[in-house]
Amino acid sequence: MHKIYIDGSWVNSSSGKTFESFNPATKKSIGTFQQGNAADARHAIDAAYDAQKKWAGMPAPSRARILFNIRDLLTKDKERLGRLVTTEMGKILPEGLGDVQEAIDIFEYMAGEGRRLFGHTVPSELPDKFAMTTRLPIGVVSVITPWNFPIAVPAWKMAAALICGNGIVWKPSSDTPLCAVELVKIFEKAGMPKGVVNLLTGPGSSVGDELVRNRAVSGISFTGHRDTGEDILRKAGVKRVGLELGGKNGIIVMDDADLGLVVDGIIWGAYGTSGQRCTAASRVIAHEKIAGKLEKLLLARIAKIKIGDGLQKGTDMGPLINEGAVRKCEKYIDIGKKEGAKLVCGGKKGSASGHFFLPTLFTGAAPDMRIAQEEIFGPVLSMIAVKNMDKAIEAINSVDYGLSSSIYTKDMKNAFRAICEIEAGLTYVNSSTIGSEAHLPFGGVKGTGNGVREAGITGIEEFSSIKTVYFDYSGRLQRAQIDTD
Ligand code: NAP
Repeated sequence: MHKIYIDGSWVNSSSGKTFESFNPATKKSIGTFQQGNAADARHAIDAAYDAQKKWAGMPAPSRARILFNIRDLLTKDKERLGRLVTTEMGKILPEGLGDVQEAIDIFEYMAGEGRRLFGHTVPSELPDKFAMTTRLPIGVVSVITPWNFPIAVPAWKMAAALICGNGIVWKPSSDTPLCAVELVKIFEKAGMPKGVVNLLTGPGSSVGDELVRNRAVSGISFTGHRDTGEDILRKAGVKRVGLELGGKNGIIVMDDADLGLVVDGIIWGAYGTSGQRCTAASRVIAHEKIAGKLEKLLLARIAKIKIGDGLQKGTDMGPLINEGAVRKCEKYIDIGKKEGAKLVCGGKKGSASGHFFLPTLFTGAAPDMRIAQEEIFGPVLSMIAVKNMDKAIEAINSVDYGLSSSIYTKDMKNAFRAICEIEAGLTYVNSSTIGSEAHLPFGGVKGTGNGVREAGITGIEEFSSIKTVYFDYSGRLQRAQIDTD
């Protein structure tokens, strides 16, 4: 039985209750976990509060050495952890390994930041006075994460939070607690001082709620569903809150695009990770001149997608995370049909041995249909045909979300219009909607978030607080705005 990790010790929850995690490809249990509660959360917050002071007092390059150790241990253990991601979350093994690689990359990047953490030094308006900024940690940060990137998303947050000197209480998704336990064991092995990182498995409604409301917590970093994010924002009070929420990402295909490249990109964007990426492509906005041809090419490729257990070699698409996700896809298939879109393939469950759903394509969709507006988070793609670039931009921007986007075209003008006019945090030109790299900012606009960007230098901004310093060595009172020439 797995335990929770508080103040450097693996312990049972005071609830006395447990829950199980299942392999979505086989529906078999892969472990029993503590059902943490609000009392455990308070205990973990207190531990993080005490440990954070000492951690923040350690020079950032020394903290970085522990982050480099984490990078090295993750690298050594990549195969085992990648297989674990596939077993617990369902994505195919190359993607499971990619999940771990993202964590390796971000720990490497953030460890490097330990020798930077730049502030600014600027001239003062007064003589004999220095004006500069420096970075301080926020304090105790609650990290609340989803199941779809069970190693990478927590790593993006925690690597940045740690290098900035924060204490952490982490609540992972109840669908992927084993990945969380294994990641924290790596932190422990890397020499993380006790209490700096604490792990609580258990429900969002109790553990998560305490992590959001507790006044000793100064920052919350949340990735997940928009409804949960909005709920957190309502309850958080005066805390720094970073929200990374859903997406309804589109690919524009213009009539001059290389359709071979387009098909590769759409198949990867829509059906990779079974459509369960926040950046997954769930809409194709195709120029009407090539929409028919594109449909035929896509159908031919979809027919070849091999669905199954992601650990088996040759599998292209794994299961959905759980039964609820399958039911959600089924619900949207009914909605799409009722709305008048044409279901041209898929639309139903795959093998009953796991939570499989067939790769699905709707054509003849209109931008305002629910299947083209709401996040389905499964392998369900809707194709919308448009007359020209103006209509394509209008369609892609017609949703409430704004995470990722893409355009396929050979026309520089259309490419730059996409960069400038699409309302999204990410725009890819001639590649799919997915493929973020650790040293560049990641995040969205509109309903996708509240402006925070993770990874890259912006990850440091999420987890540090700017202190402005005025150092007057004139030996006399100098009044800003008054004693200036
Ligand atoms: P979710 O249901 O919102 O859950 C996310 C996390 O929040 C889980 O740990 C969950 O715990 C916890 N939680 C639930 N209710 C809570 C509450 N009232 N207070 C505090 N915490 C609470 O999302 P999900 O189904 O795991 O993830 C899928 C969503 O994540 C999609 O919308 C996807 O687009 C989004 N996502 C966004 C990004 C991005 O960077 N923009 C990246 C990946 C995923 P339990 O598991 O115990 O319920």
